[in-house]
Amino acid sequence: MRKKNYDIRVNESWCKACGICVDVCPGDVFVLAEGEKADPAKKENCTGCMQCVNLCPELAIEVVEKEEEDEDERVRFHARR
Ligand code: SF4
Ligand code: SF4
Repeated sequence: MRKKNYDIRVNESWCKACGICVDVCPGDVFVLAEGEKADPAKKENCTGCMQCVNLCPELAIEVVEKEEEDEDERVRFHARR
């Protein structure tokens, strides 16, 4: 089975730096420095749980699943509430 990995994108125009993604992410993917927007600095830790996507109040996060071997990318769970 191919190892899944993920790209995480934060729309900086929408992010209000609330810190929810930092709190909910089980992989400690996000870093939120004082006065900055959320930065997905440790993408390699992402397990694709989608908690950040579902809980960001600004809908600012996209998680894109990638397959390592053929770089086939497809967007999943990109539903807007
Ligand atoms: S949960 Fe959304 S709005 Fe809050 S810091 Fe993370 S990306 Fe920004
Ligand atoms: S999908 Fe899950 S593991 Fe990946 S960045 Fe979001 S909360 Fe963290």
